[in-house]
Amino acid sequence: MTTKAMAVPTRQIAFVVDLNKCIGCQTCTVACKRLWTGHPGQAFMYWRNVETAPGQGYPRNWTAKGGGYKDGELQKGKRPGGADYGVPFDFDYEGRLFQGKADRARPSPAPHSAPNWDEEQGAGEYPNNHYFFLPRMCNHCSQPACLESCPNDAIYRRVQDGINVINLDKCKGTGSCVEACPYGKSFLNMADLKGNKCIGCYPRIEKGVASACVAQCAGRAMHVGFLDDMNSSVHKLVNVFKVALPLYPEFGTKPNVFYIPPAFGPMVEDAQGNPTNQAKIPLAYLEQLFGREVGSALALLRSERSRKMSGMPSDVMDTMIGARSADMMISPLT
Ligand code: SF4
Ligand code: SF4
Ligand code: SF4
Repeated sequence: MTTKAMAVPTRQIAFVVDLNKCIGCQTCTVACKRLWTGHPGQAFMYWRNVETAPGQGYPRNWTAKGGGYKDGELQKGKRPGGADYGVPFDFDYEGRLFQGKADRARPSPAPHSAPNWDEEQGAGEYPNNHYFFLPRMCNHCSQPACLESCPNDAIYRRVQDGINVINLDKCKGTGSCVEACPYGKSFLNMADLKGNKCIGCYPRIEKGVASACVAQCAGRAMHVGFLDDMNSSVHKLVNVFKVALPLYPEFGTKPNVFYIPPAFGPMVEDAQGNPTNQAKIPLAYLEQLFGREVGSALALLRSERSRKMSGMPSDVMDTMIGARSADMMISPLT
């Protein structure tokens, strides 16, 4: 049961990531790093990352680290080790490309984890192998395990937008938030050993400007807005069409980052190389990520796409496409 009193925001910002449009280019990752993490410890600071799914993720095997809530009780998860984050290393281009060496790093042995370590590896056997890209950031949860676990009351929910922020003046580096966040999205900056995570670009949000990762998204795969803004694409995708779903809802933190599941990928090929009617990305895997509701979301996405392709109108597709960038982003605050 939640024991710590926390502010109840008057509004809630939310992000939607369309996994059908993300091309894994990492432009969002770089935008975030360039804007916010130019200080000591930058090499370790991935407020945002884009990983390949299925895959080990970042930090490595974060889905099994624990934390969050179970039956309403806060869970103390594991703190990822340094090897799970990976340590910066020089890539051995000469050895790898021209001398047939297997290790990526110089000197060897190579590390076995880093952001984006298993890019595009995925799962399954050719020709029915599959993967997609999964952008990740702090979920600015409505039930933030990080906040509740902090013994120094250093994490707070912003009343005006529901963005969860760490007050570095109060943080004493105990790392409780790192253990409690089931998404591995709060971590200790190795330079000052203070808690660190995405700030939701709140200085931009306050001005009615979209977060940097959304604004710079090369695939135009992201939306940001307030859930109570009936005209916002996030409200429509999450609350009306119900095609955008939280990641691992059973973690119990009530995330405010939502994902439109990959619905339009290729079909499994039979022995003759002909496409069947079964998607290469297994439904069971998507249910593992997004819960049982993913089945109805996929069905709606596919039927709406067929409508659009046959020339009929589709509010769902029009909202996802976002013909004008401005329609995918926050309205100016008034
Ligand atoms: Fe806290 Fe983790 Fe939720 Fe972010 S994703 S608000 S760090 S529990
Ligand atoms: Fe980084 Fe801002 Fe995106 Fe958070 S919202 S991941 S701080 S760019
Ligand atoms: Fe995906 Fe957009 Fe990030 Fe590129 S910038 S990796 S398309 S979310």
